[in-house]
Amino acid sequence: MTQVNLMHIDILTIFPDFFTSIFATSILQRAVANNLVRLNTVNIRDFAYDKHKIVDDYPYGGGAGMVMKPEPIGRAIVATKAASANPRVIYMSPQGQVLTQQKAVQLSSLEHLIILCGHYEGVDERVSTLYVDEEISIGDFVLTGGELPAAVLVDCVVRLLPGVLGSAESAAQDSFSDGLLEHPHYTRPPEFMGQMVPEILLSGHHGNIARWRRQESLRRTWERRPDLLAKVRLSEADYAFLDRLRRSQERF
Ligand code: SAM
Repeated sequence: MTQVNLMHIDILTIFPDFFTSIFATSILQRAVANNLVRLNTVNIRDFAYDKHKIVDDYPYGGGAGMVMKPEPIGRAIVATKAASANPRVIYMSPQGQVLTQQKAVQLSSLEHLIILCGHYEGVDERVSTLYVDEEISIGDFVLTGGELPAAVLVDCVVRLLPGVLGSAESAAQDSFSDGLLEHPHYTRPPEFMGQMVPEILLSGHHGNIARWRRQESLRRTWERRPDLLAKVRLSEADYAFLDRLRRSQERF
C-alpha cells in the first residue's frame, strides 16, 4: 500500500476566528476528520511581545495606511517552520503570481504549507525578502485582507489531496484540469420549465456520452475562454470539431 503523507497547512493571521466555520464545513471538515490534512491557524498577535500586542505601524516615508510589522510575523514564521523539514511559505498578495489549477496541483504534493495573510497596506517588504518562498494572488483585484485568499487557496489545494473527494475522477475532470472548461452537467428531472436534458445523456451509450462531453467542453472553452485553447494539447478530432464550430459560426 502506498504511504499517504498527511499534509499540514498553517495559516498565519491576525483573525484566526475567520477560519473556524470554513474548516468545520463540508469537504474541508471531512478531510480533517479523515486525517487527510491538518489545518491550523497561528495568531500573529501572539508573537508581538509588547504590552498591547501591536502588529502594525506607520509607513516610512509617510502616506496613508498602516504596514504589518516584520518582527511578529518573522517570529511566527520561524516558530511554525520548525514543525517540519520541508515547509513552503506563501504570502497571499495581489502582487503575486495569479493562482491557477496547475499551481494548486503543484502545491498539493507538498508536505507543509505556511500561508501568511496580510492586512492594511500589506506586510513590511523585509518579510517577503527574508521568509517568503512565493507570493500568490487570487486575481487582479484588491481585498482588505489575506484571509479570503488563503481560504480559497486551502480549499482548492485540499480538494486535490488523495481521498478527499468522493471520486478521484471528479477533480481530474474539473475545469482547467486538462486546460479546458468542463462540459455542462444535468440531473433529474429530464424536463425542467420546458428545458430538456440533452437526449444523448439519457442514451446510456458511454462512448457517445464521452464524445459529447468532450465536444461541449471544447465548445464552452471556445465561446467563453478562447485564450485557454491556445495553451492546450488537442487531438485531431478536437481540431476537426473546432473547425466545424468556427465554420458554422461564420455562416451566421
Ligand atoms: N497595498 C497593497 C497593494 O496595493 O498591493 C494591497 C494590500 S491589501 C489591502 C491587504 C492584504 O490583503 C494583502 O497584504 C494581502 O495579504 C491581501 N490581499 C488583497 N488582495 C489580494 C489578492 N488579490 N490576492 C491575494 N491576497 C490579497
